[in-house]
This record gives sequence, structure tokens and C-alpha cells, in this order.
Amino acid sequence: MKCETCRDLLTAYLKEELEKEERERLEEHLASCAECAKEAEGARKVLALVEQASDPAVVSLVNGLIHEGIKARASDIHIQGIADHASVRYRVDGVLREVRDLDRNTQTAAVTRIKQMSGMNVAERRLPQDGRIHVLHEGKEYDLRVATVPAVLGETVVMRILDRGMLPVSLDQMGLRGETRQELEVLIHKPCGMLIVSGPTGSGKTTTLYALMQHLNDRKYHLMSVEDPVEFQIDGVTQIHINRKVGLDFV
Ligand SMILES: [Zn+2]
Repeated sequence: MKCETCRDLLTAYLKEELEKEERERLEEHLASCAECAKEAEGARKVLALVEQASDPAVVSLVNGLIHEGIKARASDIHIQGIADHASVRYRVDGVLREVRDLDRNTQTAAVTRIKQMSGMNVAERRLPQDGRIHVLHEGKEYDLRVATVPAVLGETVVMRILDRGMLPVSLDQMGLRGETRQELEVLIHKPCGMLIVSGPTGSGKTTTLYALMQHLNDRKYHLMSVEDPVEFQIDGVTQIHINRKVGLDFV
């Protein structure tokens, strides 16, 4: 048997779907070809991971974490290995709060499941990856931006929840009062300068900036934004979506 044929049949072989004769010829090749044997070993591990991740208990655990997170109005969900277990945390109003523990095996299975759902390469566990999950929760659409980072204590996952149906808040709805509101109004109408909005994730930076853009968006100015990512589209604003893969960064 040739190496190419061996590789083509490998998945079917590992799933025990090969006829006896073909199986024997493949095993014969694996016994004599170190490279294909190594390939088979890797494929076997991935298959075991995928099988673990497809377990109904893992599937419903991950779905539960996502839907509970949305219900809790979390801006992001974190899964992180700590000591001998993994912790799941929701960020609500800018503050992370622990919601549950997972044992190490469950962590691996849950992370694999999340990688599967977000279109990542399940076999790659040594490099960071990015992906997306589309979720329907109580009839509303949500986009989850998912990032995995390989760490010593297992892969860390951060899922950023974007509510696609949410409308940007107006400056008047922001809850800024008195002097702050007035000063901001003056600042954003200055012809030059820089206004910096800072704060932790989920504290309202994006909300504030969108409110300011909307406030200025009366067709008298040409408004441009550079965003990573563009979370809402605003009519009349030239919004630029960062694309690092082609070299389009903030600079
Ligand atoms: Zn071979």
C-alpha cells in the first residue's frame, strides 16, 4: 500500500469502517512506515478528543454555559485552568465572577466542543486560535467571538458576546449628568484634539463611543471610525474593520 492511500483510509480505519482485507493491508503498511504510524497516532488522539466533545453531557454543558451567560447579561465568558481544575467566569458590568468549576477532563472536552462550534482546528492545541459562534437565544441573534490561548494548565477560552439585535444607546440614554454631559458635548465638537475613553472590558467604552458617533452623525461631518471589530453599523459613518491578516491595523 502507498502512503497516500494509507492516509486517505486512515480515518475510516480508526473508525473501524474498513473491510478486513483493506484493514490488514493498511496495518501492514503502518507497521513498516514510521511516518504513517505517527500520522495515525495523531489522528487517533484527535478522534478521541472529538468523541469526548460530542458527548451529550459536554454538548449540553457548553450550551448551558453560553445561554446562562447571555441570560446573566455577561459581556464575556472565560474558561481558565487553575491548579487542578478549571474555572468558568462571567463578566457582568465589567467585573468577572466565578460561576462554576470544571475538572480537567471536562475542561478539555468543553474547550474542544467550543473549538468545534467556532470553526477552529480541533487538532491544534499548541497555538492560539480565533473563531465565531452564532447563537439564537430566546428568538434573538447573538455572535460570540471566541479566542483560545494555549496555557500550561490547559487551553484558556474567552467568548465575547455580541448582541446583534441590540441598538446603540444614545448620548441622552447614557446616564451622564450635569457637568460631565456638558463638558463632553463641548469636547466632541472641538475641531481638533483627542478624547480618550478608558475602562475595563464591559464598562461601556464601546457604548460611549457609539453614542458619541451617533450624536455627531448629522451629515455635517465626515465621520470615520477604525474598529476591532465593528460591532454595530451606523448609517452615514465610514466604519473600517481591522483586518490584521492583510495588514490593515490601527496604524
Ligand atoms: Zn506510509
